[in-house]
Amino acid sequence: MKNPKKVIVVGAGAAGLYLACLLKEADYEVTVLEADGRVGGRIYSLLSEGQALELGAEFVHGSSHILYDFCVKNKIKLYPEGETFFVYQEKVQSLSDLEKQPLIADLVRDFLEFYQGHHLYKGEEISAFDFIKNTVLETHQEKEWEKVLPYYEAFAGMMGTSLRHLGMKAWAMASNRWSAGDENYRLALPYQDFLAHMVDFLEENLHLNKVVRHISYQEQTGAEVITEQGERFWADAVALTVPLSILKEKFITFNPILPERKAEAIEKIGFEGAGIKVVMQFKVPFWEAQMDALIGATVAQEYWVSSFQKPNCQPTLTAFVMGDKALNMSKLEDKEKLSLLLEELDTLFRKENQTPPSKHLEAYFVCDWAKKPYIKGAYSYPSPHSHFERHHLAAAVGERLFFAGEATHTGGHFATVFGALETAERAFEEINSFVKKSFRHL
Ligand SMILES: Cc1cc2nc3c(=O)[nH]c(=O)nc-3n(C[C@H](O)[C@H](O)[C@H](O)COP(=O)(O)OP(=O)(O)OC[C@H]3O[C@@H](n4cnc5c(N)ncnc54)[C@H](O)[C@@H]3O)c2cc1C
Repeated sequence: MKNPKKVIVVGAGAAGLYLACLLKEADYEVTVLEADGRVGGRIYSLLSEGQALELGAEFVHGSSHILYDFCVKNKIKLYPEGETFFVYQEKVQSLSDLEKQPLIADLVRDFLEFYQGHHLYKGEEISAFDFIKNTVLETHQEKEWEKVLPYYEAFAGMMGTSLRHLGMKAWAMASNRWSAGDENYRLALPYQDFLAHMVDFLEENLHLNKVVRHISYQEQTGAEVITEQGERFWADAVALTVPLSILKEKFITFNPILPERKAEAIEKIGFEGAGIKVVMQFKVPFWEAQMDALIGATVAQEYWVSSFQKPNCQPTLTAFVMGDKALNMSKLEDKEKLSLLLEELDTLFRKENQTPPSKHLEAYFVCDWAKKPYIKGAYSYPSPHSHFERHHLAAAVGERLFFAGEATHTGGHFATVFGALETAERAFEEINSFVKKSFRHL
């Protein structure tokens, strides 16, 4: 009689590794197939002269979740994000200074109200761009709208896209489901270090450079996974943790094809085929010591100080480029991307008789996530009419195919590392209940 406890996990990002560990711990026979030559997926830390640089996930968002608890338990220091928001409006200044300027104060107030209260939106589905533009234009001129548009785009950038691609209703519903807390932290250690103990635990269960291209599954017999290299793996169940982009592109084929409702969810949930981080190290900081993040620029939606309050770190500024801006920037060579950003920094921080920022640059690292063949973009976002779709994306297909990974999070924690971990816990419970059921049939 076949062993009903053999599971293949496709993908070794946060979700795949954690799910595989949970399964192994519960005595499942687990095989992890990862396409890339490294684990971590969208967690990607580089060490530059002892300093960790994060080309993917950088922040721990909130404190009510498993990842925060893990850091506390393992005494990993977390640096809270700075509280002073800086904005560009003719010059770089703190948001509180800008709020004192009568000509712009109420536009800024509107922005902050939206930032803190967008989850209260109760109307019909409409793109965030149309909703915000209509609201601002009720009381202001077109040219004033253009002044504050970059602030709203920075907010959309955090969601991994541009305003035009966000659905107000889907966005509000997702934000209402968020329950992790509002604080943000940077880790003292490289982000990917927290994966190390999982990799050690999995040992020979983990197979790198295995690009899964086809999965056949049958309720009666089980599932077979075929890689690009033609290797075949058999299991009772397969858990897919690949990015949504991989499913959208039909990079993996299924026999039988995925149910119609799941295919519809794959199509409807937003996932931009773009997302760029450029991490720049400077000889000296040219920004104010209280500045952690800067919005209001146009080449990048946001710049932030990755070295903020971290001891012994070279001054490091990260440019965060998402959505349509990233789609355009992705067409350029890395050096051209850098030139555009430095040109913008020279303009934003221009001061009489002072050396421009570009002259202080020492090193830079570009990560264009669209170019990563097994990621192909950034992370999922609430596109119009996608508010109930994640349940369909997450749903198991019979008792053979299971789905985890950030995009399958139904509780508002998609697009985060801890959210990906939470989906692994959900998929583990589903697989467990299937095994219990199978035993009942014996
Ligand atoms: C630029 C950027 C910044 C971010 N910043 C933050 C942040 O500050 N804080 C935060 O919490 N989150 C952040 N995120 C989001 C976070 O990184 C992701 O939500 C999380 O890492 C996703 O984990 P996952 O396991 O779902 O997917 P992934 O990490 O993408 O893992 C999926 C794995 O599947 C593999 N794979 C794909 N196709 C195949 C195939 N055919 N066969 C086998 N394997 C395959 C991939 O190589 C990958 O390793 C950021 C993401 C990006 C891109």
